[in-house]
Amino acid sequence: MMPQVRVSPDLFAVEIGAESSFSFDRTGCLVRALWDGRLSRWGLDGACLVKPLPGPEVRQRRQIRLDVADGLARAAQAYEKAAVLLKAVDRRPEPPWDDVLARIEAFGVQLMESRARRYPSVYEPVGILPPDQYGALVLQLTVGCRYNRCRFCTFYRGRTYRQKSPEEFGEHIEAVLDLLGAALGRRRSVFLGDANAFGLPFPQLHAALELIKAKLPWGPQGFREINSFMDLFGGMSYRPEELETLRRLGLRRIHIGAESGSPTVLQVLNKPNSPRRLVQTVEALKAAGIGVGLIFLLGAGGDLLQTIHAEETAELLSQLPLDAKDVVYLSELVVEPDSEYARWARSVGAVGLDEEALRQQERIIRRGLRPVGQGGPACTRYDIREFVHY
Ligand code: SF4
Repeated sequence: MMPQVRVSPDLFAVEIGAESSFSFDRTGCLVRALWDGRLSRWGLDGACLVKPLPGPEVRQRRQIRLDVADGLARAAQAYEKAAVLLKAVDRRPEPPWDDVLARIEAFGVQLMESRARRYPSVYEPVGILPPDQYGALVLQLTVGCRYNRCRFCTFYRGRTYRQKSPEEFGEHIEAVLDLLGAALGRRRSVFLGDANAFGLPFPQLHAALELIKAKLPWGPQGFREINSFMDLFGGMSYRPEELETLRRLGLRRIHIGAESGSPTVLQVLNKPNSPRRLVQTVEALKAAGIGVGLIFLLGAGGDLLQTIHAEETAELLSQLPLDAKDVVYLSELVVEPDSEYARWARSVGAVGLDEEALRQQERIIRRGLRPVGQGGPACTRYDIREFVHY
């Protein structure tokens, strides 16, 4: 069997059969690779997530996360394997991919090493994104989380929250564009980071969106939308006409870590949400034509609170006017052994749920979905361990 090259507008792949495939972006950096029965996905910083392919014998094995040094070492192996395949292809790719191939052959993994070295001067570590935004262009208008005290959350631990000035944000956008170079072409969405950029005073947010629109290519072949996280603690601080202005500037969906519909569980999580505030916030966003992404934690409160967590979350969902523009994510609670949540669980003897109990909780929560209008929201599982900033 001869290796084949495949091109799409944003990716170039060399592959042989269904078991080995190496995909590169338009800068010649590896995006993902499949060999040895494992799928590797690299972040912009050079770190790598390696997943075993599904199969009866590997179903229970989790992915592993390689740090930057190990991620780049694995990338070097992948470039070597891809180089062997590229020598054997019978038809070279055509412009612009012939140039990309020449870069890959000339520089190999040095392309990724160079970008990985520059990454920390452009980005603070990106803690997490909603799964539908993994391929977004992340722009950090704020850094960290202004609350940073949820017991289960380690995304921004040890990081001081701050907002960027318009000048600094403008320089950040330029630096991000420079870092990505030709790899920008595969992105259609902007994600405004970090944990609660949506929630800044309207004039600041408005100015930031205007800046994004001015600096990025916008339209059918360019960017189409802006998304962000928000928290509920400050309440909805925007007037209806301000929300509509933000929507007209491209704001499509706001993601909210709702976590639970149960005040008891929220208290355990030390998350100052309130179900009532969530209803009001979702109603205000939806009235302005902005979609919502709601994240609930499967397994929160462990076995001790599993019933009220499921039933009160289903009850809360049933009060929300969700439609096809919205999405509900059910994210399994991942407990770090040294987290405050783990200490709480040990102190009260709460045990995490097994997969069957998680599935049961998911079934109960899904019963709360009451779609309005044309079709209901998507509802899907979400595993934060699979996040890579690529
Ligand atoms: S508000 Fe969100 S980002 Fe901040 S600590 Fe809580 S879960 Fe983490």
